[in-house]
Amino acid sequence: MRIAVLGNGASGLFSAFELVEQGHEVVLIGPADKYGSASYTAGLMLNVYSEVDCINYNSPLTQLKLESAQYLFDLWDKISNSGQTPGFESYSNAKGTEVKKYEKGNAEFEINSFNKMEQISLKDTKKNGAYKSNGKVFLPQEKHVNARVFLNFFCKEVSQRVSYLDNKATGIEKLANGKLKVNLATGEPIYSDRAVVCSGAFSGEVVASSYFSSRVKVNSLFGVGSALLLSSDHSYIPTPELQGILRTPNRGGTCGVHAVPCGDKLYVGASSFVSRYPIVKPQASSVLALLRGAEEFLNLELHKLSIEVLTGFRPLSDDMVPVIGAVDDNVFLMYGGGRDGFTWAPHHARIVSNWAEGKTSFGLGWLKLCNPLRSKYSFINSEPGYKLYEKNKKGSYAQHGKQVDSSKLKDIYQSAHSRVEQGYMIHPDLVNYYHFEYNKI
Ligand SMILES: Cc1cc2nc3c(=O)[nH]c(=O)nc-3n(C[C@H](O)[C@H](O)[C@H](O)COP(=O)(O)OP(=O)(O)OC[C@H]3O[C@@H](n4cnc5c(N)ncnc54)[C@H](O)[C@@H]3O)c2cc1C
Repeated sequence: MRIAVLGNGASGLFSAFELVEQGHEVVLIGPADKYGSASYTAGLMLNVYSEVDCINYNSPLTQLKLESAQYLFDLWDKISNSGQTPGFESYSNAKGTEVKKYEKGNAEFEINSFNKMEQISLKDTKKNGAYKSNGKVFLPQEKHVNARVFLNFFCKEVSQRVSYLDNKATGIEKLANGKLKVNLATGEPIYSDRAVVCSGAFSGEVVASSYFSSRVKVNSLFGVGSALLLSSDHSYIPTPELQGILRTPNRGGTCGVHAVPCGDKLYVGASSFVSRYPIVKPQASSVLALLRGAEEFLNLELHKLSIEVLTGFRPLSDDMVPVIGAVDDNVFLMYGGGRDGFTWAPHHARIVSNWAEGKTSFGLGWLKLCNPLRSKYSFINSEPGYKLYEKNKKGSYAQHGKQVDSSKLKDIYQSAHSRVEQGYMIHPDLVNYYHFEYNKI
């Protein structure tokens, strides 16, 4: 079967790889400049617990992730090839993740998040050896990969086995003979039997100009995220070193602060805000918060270190649940992976390849929850929504060293909710988006 894969980030590369392994003829489409690709800016923490501490531990998505975690860890072990795969140099000996409370400006949200993290790690102690000690939680199975080194290698490997087009897909048409016509930004269209849309945060644009657009009710948004690469250009000043990941729990709508070893550099991430359009220039306040986090949380002496700022777009959906599944027999959508979309990409690519083989029972839990033809999920159905939003915001304000003006927050919350149907609760990360940008669509 000839399958077009629309997108060349982690989701597209893993999907193309899995499909080609099964003997399909794959056409991989994606711009070589990888503008705004989330995958090329990721840490990359293999972060199955990132949502545990984030807002709603009991959500079906979090539970699904915890259930699938062991399968995923095993997949990454295979990809690592005992540390031989480029980018996996520190994988085998990595210390894992150390989660610790932020010492300054602790917000109530963060303390609750930390306690949840502690609970989950204790609950899973027998399974994966997580443990806690003195206000820290250790997650030995969470490792890190040098994303850019790995992707550059993987991209070359995959490109040798597929037809690669340095181009952008502008939409998909279905022809009378049941085949697909994939239109491209430049040049002639290509024809295929099936297509996988995994263009990250740009997937919404592709969907909007495709034949199935009216059936997809969940919008795709840009989770703009910046991170810093710290290094020293002076022989007399060492680049700060870490043996494993060091991070706080997520702080509300932000991703906390995390530091990840990255070759001869140190990665400090990551900011987060939601937008309906791509903004590639880093926000000054994000860079400031990251620098402050590095100094206060990591006790880093930044004097004379150099910084490189990376910005990418986390693919988000407007109910914060990924979009994974078929719209019909021909087209599969796979985007909206959010904060931990890279970690899950190999697992989700397996779901794609099973679909191509007609095996739709693999990853059934994901396919049911992330169905692209669903109506948007309400964040929660009962009223304490505002309280959660307020706690969440306090967390992100604390990261920026600011105080919350609760009355202003209440106004924003109410105005955002006046734009959606009654009873629908907007995910706390998206309240600002609905308040400031939604009416402009
Ligand atoms: C700062 C930051 C830190 C992060 N840290 C982590 C982390 O530590 N761990 C983790 O698991 N996740 C992390 N994430 C999230 C993770 O990076 C993403 O969820 C994941 O990489 C998404 O992969 P993707 O392939 O779906 O999208 P992308 O990587 O964005 O790839 C989409 C690709 O599609 C291409 N494209 C765009 N338009 C078109 C088109 N019309 N046709 C064809 N191709 C197109 C783009 O050029 C891009 O290369 C982070 C994200 C950011 C921004």
